[in-house]
Amino acid sequence: MTSAPPRPDVVPFIAAWSGEPRLRRNVVYAARGGVAFADETPEDRDQFGVLWNSRAMAPGTGRPRYGEVHPDRQCEAMRYLLCQVCGRPADRDRRGVLWLLEDNRADWDGWPNDLLTVHPPICLPCAGKAVEMCPHLVDSNVAVRVHASEVCGVYGRVWAPSAFGYPVRTANADVVAYGTAAARWVLAGQLVRSLHGCTIVDLQRELARCR
Ligand SMILES: [Zn+2]
Repeated sequence: MTSAPPRPDVVPFIAAWSGEPRLRRNVVYAARGGVAFADETPEDRDQFGVLWNSRAMAPGTGRPRYGEVHPDRQCEAMRYLLCQVCGRPADRDRRGVLWLLEDNRADWDGWPNDLLTVHPPICLPCAGKAVEMCPHLVDSNVAVRVHASEVCGVYGRVWAPSAFGYPVRTANADVVAYGTAAARWVLAGQLVRSLHGCTIVDLQRELARCR
């Protein structure tokens, strides 16, 4: 008999719980093009008219599903720049809001300027705990101060018209920009921000400043 893996004592704010099942909704064609829910309510769309996945809201119920992001809480954290781990305001100083990103500095000159991300920012205490619990984060992630960022789209499953009289899910989950034709066909799961005015910082120095 194998024992269960130890349960981390921190469940990220944006993680879904087993007591928060995805709600099964019938997807139909929207009158103005794209997709809609058959039983749609005004709360199903954001202020840009994009349709969002729905999931029960009951954080702390059942078991955490670390691999799944709760769409409502991810959206709240991203929109209001809350820490993705504790849900309190992310750290901010004169250089900007703190983000802990996977280190992709080789991707382009000036990375992560213009990066599109679904990962909300973080607060200093949570960043400190994250690298303490997972030392590999120190090497594989990079701390960044982001002076300006903009909500610019969503990440979600793209739907398409079909010959059957109803829309069908495609295999594509993608970033879809607000204001594009594709925005009518996506079922959003996460909010996307573009990052600008980025300064890469030394997380240990950031942590030392707050001690
Ligand atoms: Zn936090």
